[in-house]
Amino acid sequence: MEIDNLTALEARNGLLVDMTNAKEVAWRNPNLVPYTDAIGSCAFGRSEVYEALTRFKRFSPVIKKLFPETEAMDGIVESELVDIPKMQQAINGRYYSELEGRLYIKLDSHLPIAGSVKARGGVYEVLKLAEELALKNHILVDKNESYLRLLDEDARELFSQYTIQVGSTGNLGLSIGIMSRALGFKAKIHMSTDAKAWKKSLLQEKGAEVIEYDSDYSEAVQSGRELAAKDEFSFFIDDENSKELLLGYAAGGRRMKYQLEMQNITVDDNHPLFVYIPCGVGGAPAGITFGLKQCFGDNVHVFFVEPVQAPCMLLGMVTGLFNNISVQDIGLSGKTEADGLAVSRQSGMAGQFIRPFLSGIFTVDDKKLYHYMKALWDNEKIFIEPSAAAAFHGPAELKRSRYTNAYLRSNNLMDKLPNAVHIVWATGGSLVPDDIRIEYMKEASSRNVVK
Ligand SMILES: *Cc1c(COP(=O)(O)O)cnc(C)c1O
Repeated sequence: MEIDNLTALEARNGLLVDMTNAKEVAWRNPNLVPYTDAIGSCAFGRSEVYEALTRFKRFSPVIKKLFPETEAMDGIVESELVDIPKMQQAINGRYYSELEGRLYIKLDSHLPIAGSVKARGGVYEVLKLAEELALKNHILVDKNESYLRLLDEDARELFSQYTIQVGSTGNLGLSIGIMSRALGFKAKIHMSTDAKAWKKSLLQEKGAEVIEYDSDYSEAVQSGRELAAKDEFSFFIDDENSKELLLGYAAGGRRMKYQLEMQNITVDDNHPLFVYIPCGVGGAPAGITFGLKQCFGDNVHVFFVEPVQAPCMLLGMVTGLFNNISVQDIGLSGKTEADGLAVSRQSGMAGQFIRPFLSGIFTVDDKKLYHYMKALWDNEKIFIEPSAAAAFHGPAELKRSRYTNAYLRSNNLMDKLPNAVHIVWATGGSLVPDDIRIEYMKEASSRNVVK
C-alpha cells in the first residue's frame, strides 16, 4: 500500500476512535474537488436554484400580507449579515484561535416566519405545493397572475382539504406548521423526543396537530411518511430526501452574492470566504453550501459543525456509508442539547450530493455550545439557540486543528488569512421564549468552568 494511503487510513481509524469516544474532532474532506469538476457531475444545476429564487419572488406579496414583519424586505424571506468584532476577540482570547480577517454572523436565527434557517427550506416547499395545487385547480391561471389570489376564500377552501405532514426535531415542524396554517392547510407535525415543549405549544397555538414520539427523529420521520402515504389528501415533506427543501436553502446561499456586494465585501482569489454551518440531517447546510459554491466557486470554503454525540454527517462521510450507518452503531447516544442537530442518521441525499463541495467537518462538545451562545450575547447582544451556536466552533478551531491547518496550508490560504471573511451561519433562536433564554443563560454560567 502507498505510504499516503496508509497515513490516510491511520488518520481515518484514529478519527473514528475519537468519534466513538465522543471527543471533539476536525475532519478534512479528501473528496473535495475543484468546483468546475464538482458541478459537472452534480444532480441539480443553476437553473433549479434560480427557479427557487423566482418562486419566492412570486409569493412575496402573499408573504408580505401574511407576515407583516417582512414588510421592510418586501415579502422576501431574508436575514441580515453583521460583523461581530467583539465576538472575534472573545473567541481569540478564550480559545487561542488566532482568527485573522473579519468575523460575521448570518442571522438566519432571525428569519421571519419561523425564526430559523427552516424558514428557507420548509417555507419554500409549502409554497411550491400551494402553487401546484392552485394551478391544477385553476385558482391561478398561470404563474404571471397576482399570487394574492391565493388568499381568497376559494383558495383557502381548496388548501383546507389537504394536510401537510412532516417529521421534525422542532424547527422544521415550526416552519412548515406555521406556513401551512397561514395558507389554510391542515398541518400534522410528528415530533421526536428531543423537540422542545415550547415549540410544540407554539405549533398547537397556530392550529397544527402535534404528534409526539418517544423515539428519535428518524422514527418520527418514518411514522409520518407511512401515515401520509395512506392518505391521498396528505403531503409528506421528507427531510431525509427532499430536493425542494434543499433548493429552498440553496436560494439563501445564492443571495449571499448580492448581500456581500451591498456591504462591499470582496471574495476572490486573494480574499477567501470561510463559512461555518451547523449540521443535522444535512439538507440545510448542503443547500446553503451549494448556493454559495455557485457564487464563489473555489474561493468559498465551507465547514459543517456537529455535536460530538450526533455526528451523523461526519460518520457517513468518513465511512463512505452515508445514511447506511447511524451514530448508535458506533456507540454514541445521538442526544444533545442542540435539539436542531439531534440527528442520528444523515440524509443520504444531502451527504452524497455535498461530498465534492464540502471542505470539512468539526464536532463540538455541548458545554461549548453554551459558552459560544453566552459569549455572543455578552459581547454583541445577539441571542441564538445552542444548536446555532455550534457554528462558532468552526472559526475557533480552524487554525488550531492539525487537519484544518493542513487544509489551509495545502490550499495556499495561510498568507491570505488577513484578508479572509468568516461567516458563522446562525441557524435559529429568535422565537425562543424569554423564560427559556434565561434558563439557557443560567446553564451557560453553570457550565462556564469548563474550558
Ligand atoms: C435544522 C437545523 C439545522 C440543520 O439543518 P439540517 O437540514 O437538519 O442539517 C441547524 N440548526 C438549527 C437551529 C436547525 O433547526
